[in-house]
Amino acid sequence: MLSEFIRGFGVTLKHMVRKPVTIQYPEKKKDYAARYHGRHQLNRYADGIEKCIGCELCAWACPADAIYVQGADNTPDARFSPGERYAIDYQINYLRCIFCGLCIEACPTRALTMTQEDEVTSTTRESMIFTKEMLLAPVVAGVKPAPHTDAEVTARGEEYYGGFAFTTPLASAQAAEGQAGVSGPASLGTEPPPAGVGPSLPTTRETDQAATALNAEPAPFAPEARSEDIVPEEIKHDE
Ligand code: SF4
Ligand code: SF4
Repeated sequence: MLSEFIRGFGVTLKHMVRKPVTIQYPEKKKDYAARYHGRHQLNRYADGIEKCIGCELCAWACPADAIYVQGADNTPDARFSPGERYAIDYQINYLRCIFCGLCIEACPTRALTMTQEDEVTSTTRESMIFTKEMLLAPVVAGVKPAPHTDAEVTARGEEYYGGFAFTTPLASAQAAEGQAGVSGPASLGTEPPPAGVGPSLPTTRETDQAATALNAEPAPFAPEARSEDIVPEEIKHDE
């Protein structure tokens, strides 16, 4: 019993003599752990195509009903994401979000990740609902933002779901058909691109990190720039 008292008060005494940690916020900011759950980010592939496929899994996983996704079809002349669908509207209500991260666990394409940005405050309810434009990662310099045409995407020859390594269209096709030389999914993403096919693209992880770095100093938050009519009725009425 006595030893527990001594141990308990020892912790108190240790903190009494410890040097105080003072950070001159907002001029200086605290460094958070890499896994810190801050504001969300909607990521892109290296070529500017959006990773979000509008599947709504994040919205279904969210325990606070904080996410609103509306999907739409890609067309040959306007391709926003790989596959059939993309998110024509995407919103996160930060009055509801508890920063649990379940949404990013549910996302099948790593479209949704969390940054270390922690300044998510405002004076109006409407401006706490972040739109797709506010959440979308900026494009890397020199890259055209989505939408692209199917012809542009095909010419690049990128396999968006090939994992960390580049997968050529040829390797993907051979694997799908079970042809010799490509033994199955394990070999996907291991083939170097043939000369002249597509640019040398960074990996998915590198793209996410580059986008996060670009977002390290996001544009000043301007609630007045928002329009109330972008808030869907179902979100407004629930508040
Ligand atoms: S972090 Fe949690 S509460 Fe916030 S949007 Fe994602 S799932 Fe919902
Ligand atoms: S962020 Fe991910 S889970 Fe949410 S709609 Fe987009 S692809 Fe689906």
